[in-house]
Formats: sequence, structure tokens, C-alpha cells
Amino acid sequence: MPNVIEKEAAFLHFDHNEQQSEAAPDLKGKTLLVVEDVVSNYQLVQAYLGKSGAEIIHVDNGLDAVDTVKSHRHIDLIIMDIRLPKLNGLAATREIRKTNPRIPIIAQTAFAMQSDREMCLSAGCDEFIAKPFRRQELMRILARFV
Ligand SMILES: [Mg+2]
Repeated sequence: MPNVIEKEAAFLHFDHNEQQSEAAPDLKGKTLLVVEDVVSNYQLVQAYLGKSGAEIIHVDNGLDAVDTVKSHRHIDLIIMDIRLPKLNGLAATREIRKTNPRIPIIAQTAFAMQSDREMCLSAGCDEFIAKPFRRQELMRILARFV
């Protein structure tokens, strides 16, 4: 039986005629931390954010994500992969939440089970996005949190 997330993803794949320029949030002056260990996945997010004006910090493991949040006080939002080397995204999120209860954390993972979404939210993430996701999907979520 398809779960809620799969239904949403199927719906989103139907509106592929939308304009690339539609509804992009203005991220000038904002700093986003992208935690992603697969280079091609990071490059896709980077391309999606290309014209947004955001400054992007990229790390490829959970430990570096925790350290980066500790050393950069101006991070506005985190896009957090879940399957990561050294420290997974759930553990990294829990660690970040000890000192940063409010910074928005968007989990991203190739799993699209409802239980994965619930795991991410209970670890302290604010939202969940299933990979592969489209630019507009990411932008809609960013617009809610930045
Ligand atoms: Mg990964």
C-alpha cells in the first residue's frame, strides 16, 4: 500500500511543466549547510540552489556537520542526509539539537517510508524530503523555513 510520502512524490512528478523560475525563495544573505556524502547528490542540490543567492557550506559526514554548526553561528538552515559516514544524520541532528533547538533541519534520504519520516522528525528534524527530489519541491520547503 503506498504511503503518504509516495503519493506526494507521484503527484509532484506530474507537474513537470512548471517554470524553473517559479516561487524561488530569496536566499541572499542566508547560509545553508548541506550535509551529503554522495558527490553527485550534492552537486544536484548545489545546482538547485545556484541562483538563490544562498551561501552554501558542504560537508560529507555527520561529525563535520556537528562541528560546523558549533563553529559557524550564522547557519540559517541545514539540509541533512541520513545515511552518512562517521555519524549518521539522525545522530548528528540529535547532537545539534542539544545546543541549537531552533535552526531548521531538513532531512533528505532515499528512503521514502512513513516510518523514516517519523524517525527524522523524532530525532529533531523539522521536515523530510525524499530523494530524488525536484527543484520546486526543495524550494517549497525552503520557503517555509528560511
Ligand atoms: Mg548518504
